[in-house]
Amino acid sequence: MTKKQLYDITLGYLEEKCPMQYTELLYESPFQLLVAVVLSAQCTDERVNTVTPKLFELYPTAALMSQATPEDIYQYIKSVSYPNSKAKYLVALAQRITTQYNGNVPSQLEELTTLPGVGRKTANVIQSIVFHKAALAVDTHVFRVSHRIGLVSEMSTTPYAVEKELTKYISTSKISRAHFWLLYHGRYICTAKKPKCTECGLIEYCKYFKKQNKKSVKEPQIKLNNLSLLK
Ligand code: SF4
Repeated sequence: MTKKQLYDITLGYLEEKCPMQYTELLYESPFQLLVAVVLSAQCTDERVNTVTPKLFELYPTAALMSQATPEDIYQYIKSVSYPNSKAKYLVALAQRITTQYNGNVPSQLEELTTLPGVGRKTANVIQSIVFHKAALAVDTHVFRVSHRIGLVSEMSTTPYAVEKELTKYISTSKISRAHFWLLYHGRYICTAKKPKCTECGLIEYCKYFKKQNKKSVKEPQIKLNNLSLLK
């Protein structure tokens, strides 16, 4: 089977089975989405959604959040992972958006990735959802699923390498949607510890499934430094 055929079969299946093309994070503006995505680093959307309603009630805009202190923010986000660092990032982020971008979330990747707490994955989420650009955010689910199925090479050990390989094969019109298909497949079917292979229509083509039935497989591990864990 060629790589193109594998992509066609995989994306065709996921489009049919996981048509959801929106984030499960709760938000009412681009700034709130940006905050929610920053909070979701190394944390579940479900957990983030338990803290953001109150946070956004008190600090709905960059201008209002820019006047808070990290300690103010911390008390509302302390149940998410890395609350100290994230509280500092959010205040600095709100201040930059207020002073440099007049309160509006910038649209360019180069601008987004210079914001405090915003890495390439977060920037791609914003580009895709807010600005409808063909951007593919590689989070832990997209990374794992892409490797398991065999969409990307074992040499692609960083999120950026996986992003580059995926975007080489996925047509521009499907890139943003493919992020959600791979994400939700990873979140609900191809889960990290116990993938539900018997419920998955990709068994016949999946590299991981085939190998696992021969011997235990060592999966490529995502390479992140401490700082990028928060992005
Ligand atoms: S067959 Fe199993 S490991 Fe492969 S994509 Fe489906 S759920 Fe994941």
